[in-house]
Amino acid sequence: MARATTATIHLDALRHNLGVIRRLAPHSRVMAVVKADGYGHGLERAARALRDADAFGVAALSDVERIRALGLSQPVLLLSGFDAPEDLAQLRRLPAEAVIHHFDQIEMLAQAEPGPPIRCWLKVDTGMHRLGFAPSSVRAVHARLCELPNVADGIALMSHFASSDEFADGGAVDGAQTRTQLRVFAEATAGLPGPRSLANSAGVLGWPDAHADWVRPGGALYGISVVAGRPGRDFGLRPAMTLSTRLIAVNRIARGERIGYSGTWECPEDMPVGVAAIGYGDGYPRHAPSGTPVLVNGRPAQTVGRVSMDLTAIDLRGQPDARPGDPVLLWGDGLPVETVAEAAGTIGYQPVCSITGRVRFVED
Ligand SMILES: *Cc1c(COP(=O)(O)O)cnc(C)c1O
Repeated sequence: MARATTATIHLDALRHNLGVIRRLAPHSRVMAVVKADGYGHGLERAARALRDADAFGVAALSDVERIRALGLSQPVLLLSGFDAPEDLAQLRRLPAEAVIHHFDQIEMLAQAEPGPPIRCWLKVDTGMHRLGFAPSSVRAVHARLCELPNVADGIALMSHFASSDEFADGGAVDGAQTRTQLRVFAEATAGLPGPRSLANSAGVLGWPDAHADWVRPGGALYGISVVAGRPGRDFGLRPAMTLSTRLIAVNRIARGERIGYSGTWECPEDMPVGVAAIGYGDGYPRHAPSGTPVLVNGRPAQTVGRVSMDLTAIDLRGQPDARPGDPVLLWGDGLPVETVAEAAGTIGYQPVCSITGRVRFVED
């Protein structure tokens, strides 16, 4: 029998989520972020399902190549920009647009052979301190880019939020960093022409003032929220991936016996323990602790013991009739990946990006 471990990608959910984002940000164009192989869902699959997006955002030139091979002709933005002079010929050929965040890139544009001008997105570091020009240098950088014949007219202005998952909701979190970033961006770019873009998914969901001309959702398209305690479904999003497998064994284990590597979990009573064909070799997080939720036959259950490479044990006291062959859902409809990720001390993006090559992908 083939290994049952399957990632089912729900193309309807991707389309539905794009619709939700359009309704939330009705005055903005949508750049669908499909980096990291479409957040692990498959770049081609995601880009085809999201073909109505106004643009795509990626992290690598090879991703642009793959999008163009599908025959999609929207703008594609290289979110980390280019970092070598050879990249410029490729940007022109594909074509792709580039984030400009560093003086070295301006030098490369100035030195490059004359040719078709490249569309540029000037990135302002408004406080995340990852990529971007200091607010005080934005005007000079913009003026310099405008002088370069290799830079297309209509330079866009962008920034990226560090904490947009904290909403200004008057609760325990107050969104102060995002408010500061919005103000710094407005001041640094005041009076400059060109479209503006700030909002990632959490910016779309929680910060209408940040929607501007372009929103850049990634996670929300796949149905995943990074807002603490509020999975995507709380915002009307649907999960685009279901990870499922089957039980391959159900054993009765005696009270006091310990389960799995290093014996980290001890049976409190005589009990049925299921073994599911899923492990970190499939991309299921090894650091998911005992008690991480799963669904067996659609009903809640929990992992016990260490996740191993191929297998994970499940406490079946809640369903003593479970049998080998019964379906196990690791995340998807009915069990948000955000909930699993929280148990494992990470965010929902990471597990979906981690599915390995041996997992069978199917579309529905
Ligand atoms: C990844 C990324 C996004 C999308 O972020 P999500 O939280 O997945 O919506 C947007 N903008 C930039 C620059 C990114 O790198």
